[in-house]
This record gives sequence, structure tokens and C-alpha cells, in this order.
Amino acid sequence: CGIVGFTGNHQAAPILLDGLSKLEYRGYDSAGIAVRDGEGETTVIKAKGRLRGLAEKTNGGESVPGTCGIGHTRWATHGEPSENNAHPHVSDDGNIVAVHNGIIENYQELKDKLTRKGYTFYSETDTEVAVKLIDYYYKKYEGTPVDAINHSMVRIRGSYALAIMFRDYPEEIYVARKDSPMILGVEDGEAYIASDVPAILKYTRNVYYIGNMEMARVRKGEITFYNLDGEEIEKKMKVIDWDA
Ligand code: GLU
Repeated sequence: CGIVGFTGNHQAAPILLDGLSKLEYRGYDSAGIAVRDGEGETTVIKAKGRLRGLAEKTNGGESVPGTCGIGHTRWATHGEPSENNAHPHVSDDGNIVAVHNGIIENYQELKDKLTRKGYTFYSETDTEVAVKLIDYYYKKYEGTPVDAINHSMVRIRGSYALAIMFRDYPEEIYVARKDSPMILGVEDGEAYIASDVPAILKYTRNVYYIGNMEMARVRKGEITFYNLDGEEIEKKMKVIDWDA
């Protein structure tokens, strides 16, 4: 339902919580964040219910150190509203962590395939299937995150805005989009991701719109866009001249 991401020099968790609060009007049933401190471990914290629960659990984000992270508020479509089904979802070995807006229509077929390949599923969500599919292609082809994501995009039917972190690529966030909104912003050597402009307007007005069936690699102060073939594409920055 709502996605926010950040990589930069500031602490990520307070920015994620603040951004998600700007999307609160859309309604949701759980919230969660994943934050990574440099090359260290990624901390995933989730809470059922309102964002206030997550804010209390993390002391306003202060108890989750790190400068790169993704956050999500969930509007359940597959699996009941619960802490277990809340995003972010993580691959079996913790290699990949992601948040997702939208619906994976062929999730059952993909889940069956991945189960045969040895994957275990811990939630009832379609999102966990997408996370593990990306992990599967990442290992199978031993390529870049963009290679793994575009292989998955070809196989997934439905709608998605995905924000993904790979353990092998600290301080980076990858984005993929189809039929579900997502924008990216850059300011002062830092970068932001959001499913809607108001979430990041306090931090930047310099925004890029990612197209349908496109991907992006987000680094501190630098965003690179890719088409489905993994080729780089140019985007023009837009300056937001309205207030939320
Ligand atoms: N289909 C996913 C789920 O049920 C994502 C829902 C959303 O857009 O928040 O967890």
C-alpha cells in the first residue's frame, strides 16, 4: 500500500517512519521496516496495526541504526493482516529483503515451482513469492541484481512496485515497477524512494518517475534506470512545485 526507501548519510529509520506517516491516509493493517548499517546485518522490524506501534517498537526509529532502508504499510490482499504477513519479506538465507505494493496474480504457480526447488514459505503473501523468485534467478544466473529482477519481471503476472535490498550490494536499493506507482528522488548525495510524492516532499523536490516495466538502481545521490533488457535508460528530473 505504501512504500518509502532511503539511502544516504542520515539515519534511515526515522525518515522511513516519517515518510510512511505521510501515506497513512491510504489506510493499512500493518507496517514494517528493514534497515542496514553499512555492510552489517539488516534489521527487520514489523508491527500489526497503526504506524504508532512500529514507532513505539523502534523508539521512533532510533533503536534501528543504519543509513539504508525500506519501509512498507500493508493493505492485505493475500494472507490475513498479521505481523507474520507484514512486509518486508526476506529470502530463506537473508540474501534479499523486499517490500511490495500490488498483486502477483500467478503467485500459486510460482510458489509451487519454488517449493519444488527447495524454498520454504513462512507467510501467506504473494510478496514472499516474488522475493524468493528474485533470489532464485539471482543464484541461478549469478548475475547482477538487475539481471535477477528482470528475469523475475518476465515471469510475474500482475502489478507491483518493489523495493529490494541485496546483501551483496550494501547501501543500494533496487526498484521495479508495473501498474503500481513509484517515484524516486535525489538530494544532496542522498536518495529517496516512495509510492507517492508527499512521503518525500519534506526531503526533496527533485523527482524521477519510473516507467512501467522499468527498474532502477538507487545509490547515495545517484539513480540509474534500466529497461527490461537491463539496458540503461535516460530520465529527466522533474521539480515538484506544489505542496502536500
Ligand atoms: N499483495 C501484497 C500483500 O498482500 C501487497 C499488498 C499491498 O499493496 O500493500 O501483502
